[in-house]
Amino acid sequence: MECLHGKTASNSTTDKGSFWFCGQKPSCGFLCTEEDGYLFQTALTAWRATGLTQPICESHQKPAKFRVVKDMLKKSYGRPYFTCASRENPCNLMNAVIIEGEMSRL
Ligand SMILES: [Zn+2]
Ligand SMILES: [Zn+2]
Repeated sequence: MECLHGKTASNSTTDKGSFWFCGQKPSCGFLCTEEDGYLFQTALTAWRATGLTQPICESHQKPAKFRVVKDMLKKSYGRPYFTCASRENPCNLMNAVIIEGEMSRL
């Protein structure tokens, strides 16, 4: 399991389950549950193949959060996308899904 840095992700088990997360500093913000590991790894490989870099959210000056479309009914299922990493006050700039090497709006 790798994070966006291309480094081995750390694993931690809490009472909510097992998680993979970025163990580097500064963190790329990578986080997924053990069950989603395969989905995230596949999406990460797809993202890397595009050659696109991790977007930085302008208003927050933070690397955007890597996510995967988990709705199986969507055509974009399994695709990587990025959202704002801020929980309290997220901006809507980063809802970008990567399809065929391009960032498009979800
Ligand atoms: Zn990382
Ligand atoms: Zn933001």
